[in-house]
Order: sequence, then C-alpha cells, then structure tokens
Amino acid sequence: MSLQHLVIIGAGQAGGQLALQLRQKGFTGNITLIGEESSAPYERPGLSKGILTGKQSCESLLLRPASVYTEQAITLLLNTRATHIDLKKRELMTAQGQTLAFDTLVFATGATPRQLPLPGSDLPGVHLLRTDTDAAAIKNSLTNAARIAIIGAGFIGMEVAASARSLGTETHVLEAGPRIMARSLPEFIASKIISLHHSQGNQVTCNAAIKGITGTDTVTAVEFQDGSQLNVDAVIVGIGVIPNTELAEAAGLKCDNGIITDAHGRTESDGVYAIGDCAASYLTRYGHHQRLESYQNANQQAENVAADILGIPAEYNPVPWLWSDQYHWQIQTLGFPARAERWLQRGDLTKDRKEIHLGFTGNTLESVVSIAEGTAASADVKVLQRLIEAGATPDPNQLCDPDIKLKALLKQAR
Ligand code: FAD
Ligand code: NAP
Repeated sequence: MSLQHLVIIGAGQAGGQLALQLRQKGFTGNITLIGEESSAPYERPGLSKGILTGKQSCESLLLRPASVYTEQAITLLLNTRATHIDLKKRELMTAQGQTLAFDTLVFATGATPRQLPLPGSDLPGVHLLRTDTDAAAIKNSLTNAARIAIIGAGFIGMEVAASARSLGTETHVLEAGPRIMARSLPEFIASKIISLHHSQGNQVTCNAAIKGITGTDTVTAVEFQDGSQLNVDAVIVGIGVIPNTELAEAAGLKCDNGIITDAHGRTESDGVYAIGDCAASYLTRYGHHQRLESYQNANQQAENVAADILGIPAEYNPVPWLWSDQYHWQIQTLGFPARAERWLQRGDLTKDRKEIHLGFTGNTLESVVSIAEGTAASADVKVLQRLIEAGATPDPNQLCDPDIKLKALLKQAR
C-alpha cells in the first residue's frame, strides 16, 4: 500500500467508523482523525432518547472506548478544529496551530443545527440538540421543568417530546408548517403519529406563528404573533440542520446542499472524499445526488469509502433506512416515503402490534413506513428492504395479507 497519511476531518459517527473500518480492512498507513468535540466518536441517536430518559449513559454511545484508537494506531486529535485546507500542497491547518500533510483526505464534518431566527433564542434554557453536551444540558433542564416547548416537529422534536413526556413533563410541540414530519412522511401517516402523541398527553400545534422567546435570566415564555403566550421552563429547538461544507467550499470543492461526491464517496478532487451528513452523494438507484441524514448512511458510507481507499470494489447504492423511537413505539422508514404515489397497508397497530404502510410508484414497491410496538416490525422491514432492492412489483393482495409471509414474496420476486 503506497498511501502514507490519511486525514479524516470530523470525529463523529462517520469519521470514527471510517478510521476503524480502514484498520479492520488492513490499511497500514497513518490515520489522523480530527474532531472538534471533546468526546471520542459516538453515536447520536441515544441523545434524544435514552440519554434524556436516563436509560442510557453517554459512555454507552461511544463507537469504541477511546483506548481502541491508540491500540489501532489511529491518531485521535480531539478539541481540534480544522480551519484551512490547501489541496494543491496537500496540507491542512487547525485552529490549534498544527499543519498536517495528507495523501488522502476525508470530510466527515456532519451538520450544524439551524438556529431559531427569532428574538430570545439565545436565552439560557433555550437548547439545540446535536452533541452529548447539548443532551446533558437538556436532561438537566428537564429535571426542573414542569412544562417545556419544543419548536419544530421533525425527528428531534417528536423524539424529545416523547422522552420528556415519559418523565412526566408537560410538552408542547410547536411546528411552523401545516403538519409534522413533512420532509419524511406522507400526511396520513404523520396524522397517525400525532394521534399516538396525543394519546400520551403531548400537545402538538401546527401552523404555530411564534414571535419570539421571552425571559430575563432564563426563558419564561414563548410569545405568539397573535399576542398570546405559553409559559415554559425550557425550550428545545429542532428545526433542521445545515451541512458543514464551509471548509470544503473554501478549498474549492463543489458543494450544493452538501459536498458533491460520486457513488463511491469521491469528490472531484483526486484522493478527497466526503461521507455522512455533510455529503451529497450520487445515489445510483435513484439517479440523483442526495444528502442523507441517518445512522445507516454514516456507517455504510464509511464502510464503502474505506473499501474504495483500499482499492476494494464497492459502490454505495442504498435503499435509505432509518428508525425513530417515540414512547414505546418504533417508526421505521425505507426509501423516500414522502415521494410515493399510492399506499397500501399490511396489519394494524392495535390488533397486530405493528402496521406496515407500503408506498408504490406505479406497480413498484418503493417506500415503507412501519409503526410498531418496539421492534415488532424489524424482521418485516428487513425483508421489505430486500424487496425494494430487487425492484419488486409484488401482488398487492398478497402483500397486504399478514398471513402471507413476506419471505415467500421475496422468493417470487427473484
Ligand atoms: P456527526 O456525527 O455530526 O459528526 C461530525 C463531527 O465532525 C462532529 O463531531 C463535529 O464536531 C466535527 N466537525 C465538524 N467540522 C469540523 C472541523 N472543521 N474540524 C474538526 N471537527 C469538525 N439517525 C437515525 O438513523 N436514527 C436515529 O434515531 C437518529 N437519531 C438522532 C438523534 C439526534 C439527537 C441526532 C442529532 C441525530 C440522530 N440521527 C439519527 C442522525 C445521525 O446521528 C446522523 O446522521 C449521524 O450522526 C451523522 O454522522 P456524521 O459523522 O456525518 O456527523
Ligand atoms: P428535521 O427532521 O429536518 O425537522 C425540522 C422540523 O422543524 C421540520 O418539520 C421543519 O419544517 C420545522 N421548522 C423549520 N423551521 C421552523 C421554525 N422556525 N419554527 C418551527 N418549526 C420549524 O430536523 P430535526 O428534527 O431538527 O433533526 C435534526 C437532525 O437530526 C436531522 O439530520 C435528523 O435526521 C436527525 N435526527 C434523526 C432522527 C432519526 O432518524 N430518528 C432523530 C433525531 C434527529 P420544514 O421542513 O417545513 O422546514
């Protein structure tokens, strides 16, 4: 192997996985993993779930214990921010004054939560949620809060509401748009999710016209444009993320809502890659570039880029999958559910502990949304993922009949 020094910017889930995968696959060159945070690479899903409810510790989120990076001869530079890249000289500078030479460079810089563009959003007690430090601050707020507002009804909003409700906190989700989870779910499924939240006492308001957040030493209320207000002890803001592309853009790389890569994670510059939330990668299956913000994407892109760096044939061609835990229910999605043309249903949550919504374009199964008690739908979702990968056009009657095994339909599709 001729590569000498590989540098990864971003010691989050994708960056950490890449470093570990490279060693696992036999990379023998130097690896430096640069991370702005003070923790070794960790997984974020628990931050809105088990960390807030106290069922999980921050340590349990670590990809691997910090000592593993030393054992694997991976130089982990924490509390270190990359600030400048010279692609011609193959050099990277950090805010801490280091200059690092590289042969291969990988951007794994993730994304930054969007700030609420309203007065009072910088008051103590108003939180964003991206890091373990943010989650610890929210957890601390929840211990003293009788009532909270959550601004934004996306994944963060609905998961934080569920976690806070399970601790007994009064929760009000305020969504500016006409419905919840608009980016990820079709309207009729979003309505079902609202019903589940209502059944647990969470209040969800769409078309919320918020004027600002008020308080002196700390937040005390959310003020609406009609003059009314909601008194609260804390506010959690989850209104989406912006990909961290400034460094790549300044280095001259093509970016368009993410660092543009091909299906192998390669940017237009030789030996320079991008993975995870910051990357807008070409999805062969769908025929366009797309930034995916999920656990599966961070892991699989890391694995694929590790293979590509080592010259092992690999192509990233996912059927996107993600899950969301809200109360004792788990929602899973496959594909791009907001895009499907028509929907069928298999099973019923109240009778069968799970229901699976099947989204079609023409006769082709292209998306799935399951709502289940815990992991009751997980085995089905795995088979459905393979059906979508196969481009299957299953018989709708059979697909909707819970007595017919999905595996049988998979055999027919082959
Ligand atoms: P990150 O994990 O954000 O890592 C990027 C790292 O790069 C950060 O540590 C950042 O500080 C660092 N960095 C950025 N710029 C620099 C720089 N210039 N120099 C040095 N370091 C830098 N997905 C699911 O599929 N299911 C879930 O249930 C789920 N739950 C989630 C819950 C929460 C609260 C959050 C925030 C996300 C959740 N996700 C979930 C999404 C998933 O966690 C992300 O898609 C994943 O973390 C992306 O990994 P990443 O490595 O690209 O980015
Ligand atoms: P998100 O899922 O994009 O949802 C943000 C929501 O806030 C959208 O509904 C958005 O509406 C709304 N919004 C935007 N501006 C608003 C405003 N001013 N007032 C009120 N509502 C507003 O993003 P997120 O929930 O913040 O999550 C952040 C990141 O964490 C994402 O990458 C997400 O994928 C990840 N995450 C994933 C999971 C999971 O997969 N289970 C769990 C938690 C977090 P518009 O769409 O109309 O802008």
